[in-house]
Amino acid sequence: MTKPQTVNSDLGSAPIVTKPTSSKEVCEKPKEEQQQPQQNQQQQQQQQQQQQQQQQQQQQQQHQQNYSKSSYTSVYNDQSILQQRQNRPKLKLTDFNMLRTLGTGSFGRVHLVQSKVNTRYYAIKVLKKTEVVRLKQVEHTNNEKHILEAVGCPFVVNLWGTFQDTVNLYMVMDYVPGGELFSILRRSQRFPDHVAKFYAAEVVLAIEYLHSKDIIYRDLKPENLLLDAQGHIKITDFGFAKHVPDITWTLCGTPDYLAPEVIQSKGYGKAVDWWSLGILMFEMLAGHPPFFDDDHLKLYEKILAGRIKWPSYFDPNAKDLLRRLLTSDLSKRFGNLRNGAEDVKRHPWFEGVDFNRLLARQHRPPYVPSIRGDGDASHFDRYPESNEQYGIQNGPDPYLHFFSDF
Ligand code: AMP
Repeated sequence: MTKPQTVNSDLGSAPIVTKPTSSKEVCEKPKEEQQQPQQNQQQQQQQQQQQQQQQQQQQQQQHQQNYSKSSYTSVYNDQSILQQRQNRPKLKLTDFNMLRTLGTGSFGRVHLVQSKVNTRYYAIKVLKKTEVVRLKQVEHTNNEKHILEAVGCPFVVNLWGTFQDTVNLYMVMDYVPGGELFSILRRSQRFPDHVAKFYAAEVVLAIEYLHSKDIIYRDLKPENLLLDAQGHIKITDFGFAKHVPDITWTLCGTPDYLAPEVIQSKGYGKAVDWWSLGILMFEMLAGHPPFFDDDHLKLYEKILAGRIKWPSYFDPNAKDLLRRLLTSDLSKRFGNLRNGAEDVKRHPWFEGVDFNRLLARQHRPPYVPSIRGDGDASHFDRYPESNEQYGIQNGPDPYLHFFSDF
């Protein structure tokens, strides 16, 4: 089965709906009124009571919103990772020896490289500026850089720095040597229940973390899930990730994984990642996604119709959770309800998964890639190498202003 292509129709400057007035602003008002001398004592007491009630409600809401965030900070502190990264000197091409190609994308390729400074291996994603501009990916490419810089999560690939020359953009990431989950899934055809559960659970933690920072990932699929040397998930390719506190409109993602609200060109939010978690879970358990058709229009009709053929071997709990993720009704979709990711994590299918231990990477992965040495790239397909010269600094660069942050 070949890899499905991504779609991306950027509606660019579509308006963003802003949040209604926050409860914080409402709460602060009575405080000022309290100080006015003409109010009698009874009124003041009533107001104080109201104010206390509002504050309690606000604290409860805040606690609910922060629940997932606090479970992270208790296990690891992303601030130290982020600071460590910020304090590094600017990286440059001459710091690295370019080795073989690990993967290719629509506007560039990813290379295995070795640092001349510390001899460690890294992956450098090289993006051709002309292609990024031609394919209208300037905003997405800048998003990818800014978002990867802003996150520090055990299940997301680590970005160490970026730089550019007149032709290309470069993003230096940790090298994740275990290859794509896609390759392992295609080799195994489908995963046993416990294997799918392990990978799904790590992805749940990654989505929960990203959403706690108002980041939507928008391109969950086995090709974008790499395995590190121990067999844990690292999500890569943040080309479609976006900081979205509320709603966005851009049609992008991979057709098989698109949520109904994206296809319908409705404004959509974080719930799309929970839908695609459902597709991913189904694909891991069945070996194929729940909706597929070579013709994209027919595929979209199937997604909107929402009829799923359930394999008989699915665990009833897996099926139940999938039904709750793969619902077009946003008021019912798990992950998108009041308790956020907790509904997913507490679902009976995940019984036995200790999410705190998982976050600390203390659950044993079901498959440990065999790695012969640090720079072993045997888990990646071979690609014809290009003889393009990197590091050209002279000559005109008409696109410099698009990428001033690189
Ligand atoms: P991307 O354009 O980000 O989707 O990357 C294309 C392919 O390069 C991925 O599907 C992976 O096979 C490979 N790749 C990307 N990032 C890394 C990384 N940090 N370590 C190892 N391989 C990677």
